[in-house]
Amino acid sequence: MPKSVATACTPAASFAHAGTVQRDWCGDALAKLRQEAARSADTHLLKLDLPGFPGIAFYFKDEAAHPTGSLKHRLARSLFLYALCNGRLQRGQPVVDASSGSTAISEAWFARLLGLPFTAVMPACTAPGKIGDVDALGGTCDLVDDPADVHARAAWHAARGACHLDQFGLAERATDWRGNNNIAESILQQLALEPDPEPAWIVCGAGTGGTSATIGRYLRYRGLRTRLCVADPSGSGFANGWHSRDRAARATQPTLIEGIGRPRVEPGFVFEVVDAVLEVDDGDSIAAMWLLEDLLGRRYGGSSGTNLVACLRLAADMRSRGERGSIVSLLCDRGERYDRTLFDREWLRARGIDPRPARERLARLVATGAQVGSAMAP
Ligand SMILES: *Cc1c(COP(=O)(O)O)cnc(C)c1O
Repeated sequence: MPKSVATACTPAASFAHAGTVQRDWCGDALAKLRQEAARSADTHLLKLDLPGFPGIAFYFKDEAAHPTGSLKHRLARSLFLYALCNGRLQRGQPVVDASSGSTAISEAWFARLLGLPFTAVMPACTAPGKIGDVDALGGTCDLVDDPADVHARAAWHAARGACHLDQFGLAERATDWRGNNNIAESILQQLALEPDPEPAWIVCGAGTGGTSATIGRYLRYRGLRTRLCVADPSGSGFANGWHSRDRAARATQPTLIEGIGRPRVEPGFVFEVVDAVLEVDDGDSIAAMWLLEDLLGRRYGGSSGTNLVACLRLAADMRSRGERGSIVSLLCDRGERYDRTLFDREWLRARGIDPRPARERLARLVATGAQVGSAMAP
């Protein structure tokens, strides 16, 4: 008897049984995710008073403090929830995603929690510290030479049965933008007792676009006047696309800043909720990342530096108009991941970058408000 006939004759009861087993497993997996969330604390909102900007308070949400070291902890939890609740993830099924590293680490962590094999498709140039973290969590790294190939490679794994978590396709919808302690709700709650609880600006980068979409939507939902600024590497896909509202735009410059500065307009980029885009040269981002260590006594990644530069530009603009208020941004990931790249003087020198002059210029701006040179002009 041909196999297809046998399948057609399978009693309905055994389909029902298979469905029950799957639903039981799904329920257990969701319970594990809820337990993980209950064990986790929220991340701190650190306040920085910069002497050069009296009357302007700076707050940085320390997303490096998540168990997996970056803001992608939130996203990975949401993506697994979304896959489970959509019935797309089965017991024992391999899981795959394309990532510049941070998401892969967080997804590897949740895959291990749920007992699922995980493969991260990453550019071969990803910081070695991140590749090591995925390995340590039991994940497999599939490295591709051309960063533009990661999506096709993830689709290749999905065609062979893996569940594609699809951070770039789904980040914007997997996150509950109305609340549920999303990052925007958390920030605003933590600001409640501050002198300026409704910030003038919130600043973030754009990788999947999930963070900016969630913040932008939530600000409208809550009826706040706070404006949203995306800080991205100069010539990024987001920056080029946002200025011309062109979803076919491409990056016109490569970047050394991981997690942001995408080569294309990702499906999750919601241009309409973004009020300003500030483009930051890699040299300034790296200098600011070094400066953050001086200011906070801890290392954070390159995109946190990009955010700081944008905050200072917005603050300088506010000060020049005599405005007071607060500016909020994110510390996106742990700096240790870049010990052998952006925090390594030799590595930078080989790429023609010396962070010292820009760091001194930024330090002077932070201390005195004095602008030296043109790179910091709004
Ligand atoms: C992903 C990422 C971002 C950008 O966040 P999205 O929500 O994906 O836009 C910024 N910094 C780092 C280090 C990231 O990994």
